[in-house]
Amino acid sequence: MSKSSSVYICQSCGGSFPKWSGQCPNCGEWNTLVETLKDSSSKKSSLRSANSAAKAYDPSTVVRFADVDLSKMQYQRVPTGISEFDRVLGQDKSGEGMVPGAVMLIGGEPGIGKSTLLTQLVVQLLHKQYTAAQGAELRQPILYVAGEESPNQIALRIKRILNDEHIKIDEKILNQDLIFATTPDVDQLTSIIEKEKPCIVIVDSIQTLTTEDLLGSSGSVGQLRESTERIIEHVKKMNIPTFLVGHVTKEGTIAGPKVLEHMVDAVLELSGERTGQLRLLRAIKNRFGATDEVGVFQIVENGLAEVKNPSEIFLEQSEKNKPGSATVCVVEGTRPLLIEVQALVVESQLAMPRRVGRGVQLSRIQVLAAVLQKHAHIPLGSADIFLNVAGGFSITEPAVDLGLAVAMVSSYRNVALPEGTVFIGEVGLLGEVRNVSFMERRIKEAKRLGFTRVISRAVHPSLTSVLKTLGL
Ligand SMILES: [Zn+2]
Repeated sequence: MSKSSSVYICQSCGGSFPKWSGQCPNCGEWNTLVETLKDSSSKKSSLRSANSAAKAYDPSTVVRFADVDLSKMQYQRVPTGISEFDRVLGQDKSGEGMVPGAVMLIGGEPGIGKSTLLTQLVVQLLHKQYTAAQGAELRQPILYVAGEESPNQIALRIKRILNDEHIKIDEKILNQDLIFATTPDVDQLTSIIEKEKPCIVIVDSIQTLTTEDLLGSSGSVGQLRESTERIIEHVKKMNIPTFLVGHVTKEGTIAGPKVLEHMVDAVLELSGERTGQLRLLRAIKNRFGATDEVGVFQIVENGLAEVKNPSEIFLEQSEKNKPGSATVCVVEGTRPLLIEVQALVVESQLAMPRRVGRGVQLSRIQVLAAVLQKHAHIPLGSADIFLNVAGGFSITEPAVDLGLAVAMVSSYRNVALPEGTVFIGEVGLLGEVRNVSFMERRIKEAKRLGFTRVISRAVHPSLTSVLKTLGL
């Protein structure tokens, strides 16, 4: 039974029902009913009908191109003090980092380090307040909404980071400028925001917030959406940059809904293998920046350390001189990265040979195996193929095709590839090696890291000639 103020609306067909059911009675879709406030929906629909009548022309709603002041940004970005973080948040004329009033959803599996990253952000901001506003009395506090952990745990972590990194902060600033909110009630939280006027809000996590206006439990789609909407409404008005932590389900989507992704300005994702040392931060959506930049962090004792030269870390652990290993170069945003790819090709015992990729799309493996079979006459049709990208990286760029293909043949023939060689090129269906973008940048990075030989279309126009040169 729902509260009198709420209804259940199907996200698929828009049907509205007084009570929840697993299957929509109208369109038959499963799990599409979401609890929604009756008021807001009926208000919206009555507004819509009123709006359909023409309204008087309002000149303030039109801006001519000539009146746009291109020299001025509408906002001033606030750096986080963590440059790998700022890289992902984006940059423009006003600097880099957070945009005031921007609401950023930060997702990732539980335990991957989202809270750690955000506590580090808190430390950096406190440090900035300390250095910038020494003695100034009017500072805006940092508001940390502690839903997942107790203020105690967070404070302890902050103390540890301060000690570890020898960051100096006035005790007075620490005591006054950091406030924790422990309420799960989003409406109480918005009153706190109104009253305290923080310079930043961190909600850890959005799944713990609820409003009493809805019946659903915390974490339900309806509660998530309503809570997010209420926070956005307040922080936008007050120009406060806001981070919402959202846990990711096993299936890899931010728990609950895609709906949240549409509501916020940016969706960031922190990923990495749980057991591995590296964490990658990337933007899936960013209204204020590019979505292809990657921030790279390394796990250290009490937090995440920035990695300025990711290629070195990726290659450090690579298996040189082993059959099946090849070095490729990808470009993430503006930064070229050298990464090791590994292939394992063995005679299959199955009627349907296996193709397994970690960090590589399955369709790519299938295409490359077919090209090798057709043009290089390597009978991969009866072989199991496993491909792996080192460091938990996931690559979609076609520039790695050549490296993947060569790694497969190297494993198949059991012949290691020559040291100091990087493979850059897309492989076409006719077995040709194609040029890729940012060639100069990639070659420069390879040289910087001591690679002496780049194999690309410039040297070999076809896959077969590449294999011949390598003696494969
Ligand atoms: Zn429906």
